[in-house]
Amino acid sequence: MSLRYQNKVVIVTGGSKGIGRGIVTAFVENGANVVFCARGAAEGEALAAELKAQGPGSCTFVRCDMTQEDDIQRLMAVTVELYGRIDCLVNNAGWHPPHKPTDETTAEEFRNLLNLNLVSYFLASKFALPHLRQRQGNIINISSLVGTIGQKDAAPYVATKGAIISMTKAMAVDESAHSVRVNCISPGNVMTPLWEDLAAQTVDAAATIQAGENAQLMGRMGTEAECGLAAVFLAADATFCTGVDLLLSGGAELDYGFKSRLHPEGL
Ligand code: NAD
Repeated sequence: MSLRYQNKVVIVTGGSKGIGRGIVTAFVENGANVVFCARGAAEGEALAAELKAQGPGSCTFVRCDMTQEDDIQRLMAVTVELYGRIDCLVNNAGWHPPHKPTDETTAEEFRNLLNLNLVSYFLASKFALPHLRQRQGNIINISSLVGTIGQKDAAPYVATKGAIISMTKAMAVDESAHSVRVNCISPGNVMTPLWEDLAAQTVDAAATIQAGENAQLMGRMGTEAECGLAAVFLAADATFCTGVDLLLSGGAELDYGFKSRLHPEGL
């Protein structure tokens, strides 16, 4: 198959594992020069070396904490120093805290999550845009299905993900003047280290994973590789799409579910 993003320069935040790793891999497989970041260096360096050896694209790891504005600026600067341009920014680094009710959630916890899940997407976009405008490039924001359908005991997380969808549309409007497309992907359940960590904190991890699989019409979770395919589609093929929210959910949002179990005493 022909390479769909050959010689393009792509930045992926949080690419050392999970959905980010799937996206980094798909772009390298399609001939792109990928620069990705994470906080810890060991996993990132190892993945970059492995993908560089496989090609046909190239792959570089940069250590960067996406909660730090200086780090985000450095990520863009290193990329431009290496390749002289940026064609695509994928904002992916984010976290889902363990589920807990609003009554037990502090303002500081909410603010810290906003900083990682939302403000980092804003800042990375802000610093990449001057370069993206020169290339008529694009931004892909990883949101979540729950930003649209909600989720139990996760108000701050859901709020950050809903805001990403709204910010995507606002930036799509602004950047249309520069022919920069801005889109987002809202995954449903995708089996990643984050999902496994969250399941491990429940009473019965195996049952939690089974319930996670049953939530999709397709009866399984999505994969890292499928997230990569969706990102390459938006970057390379979806040239008439801007401001869209691509649901990558296996149909999880469709049909009625058994919601009343959440209210055993009735409403
Ligand atoms: P993960 O924890 O498995 O991987 C997260 C990646 O982000 C890692 O590479 C990690 O090193 C990096 N990261 C975390 N904090 C960082 C920071 N401060 N600075 C730099 N890098 C940082 O998570 P995942 O499941 O792959 O999730 C990735 C994105 O997809 C998140 O935004 C998440 O909200 C979203 N998402 C995940 C699912 C799912 O089911 N897994 C569903 C919907 C949305």
